[in-house]
Amino acid sequence: MYFGAHVSIRNGFLEAAKIARSLGGRSFQYFPKNPRSLAIKTMDRRDAEACAAYCREHGLKSIAHTPYPTNLAVDAGDRRHIVVMSLLNDLDIADACGSVGVVVHFGIYKGGDPLDGYKNIVGTLNEVLSRWSGSALLLIENQSGEHARMGMTFEELVGVRNLCVKPQSVGFCFDTCHAYASGLWNGADWEEVQKKGESLGYFEHLKAIHLNDSVYPHKSYKDRHANIGKGEIGEEPFRRFLASRYVRNIPAVLETPVAAGYGHAQEIIELHRLTGEGKR
Ligand SMILES: [Zn+2]
Repeated sequence: MYFGAHVSIRNGFLEAAKIARSLGGRSFQYFPKNPRSLAIKTMDRRDAEACAAYCREHGLKSIAHTPYPTNLAVDAGDRRHIVVMSLLNDLDIADACGSVGVVVHFGIYKGGDPLDGYKNIVGTLNEVLSRWSGSALLLIENQSGEHARMGMTFEELVGVRNLCVKPQSVGFCFDTCHAYASGLWNGADWEEVQKKGESLGYFEHLKAIHLNDSVYPHKSYKDRHANIGKGEIGEEPFRRFLASRYVRNIPAVLETPVAAGYGHAQEIIELHRLTGEGKR
């Protein structure tokens, strides 16, 4: 299993990978740049390449996460251009760090016709993909429905990927909290959820997982992460989810709260307990 956690790049990419390993993880997620801005970052390429080498040496897998203001559903024009340039910058950094890809939320559209929102998402993705030739993937994440009731079903995720000019550069990131809050997964029906995703062609492109329990109930459409087994989803649904073969070989990272005495190192041990693996 490639369990891990979201880690800070305050001291650089190599240091982030070292922190991830010190937590007992085999994967991690990081923000390639300031998470509150779409401003282009000039990366320290030597640091990024040192991170990639360290990950190869220690068998670590990583994913990057786009800054919060990244919205694929923006209308064409100046604002979309800023999003596109930021995404290309994120992909470039992720590639240099040896990461699987860049996680990006499905998108938030507040206009009147939802079809325009989907067209915008595909349009933004295509602008990025037509200019990207690296190996890092764009990983579209399912949403909770908190800001817009979009991106909550396998149909939408697979549909958008299929409309992309270079679908081979697009994969998926499955967030367990969002899946629960949006109604995609009720905690007791993982087997059916998996069958549905398989029939739609979702799981063959699943490349990363966000492991989060949910503070709010099923179909609450609220995005508040809780520690695994300590939220509304609870232990047993995670036990069944983690037994899925689709979770085995891809980065599965925690985006959960850290408290004194219960940090990500403890929570990774807890994940191993739930999978019956012991500490590793
Ligand atoms: Zn997430």
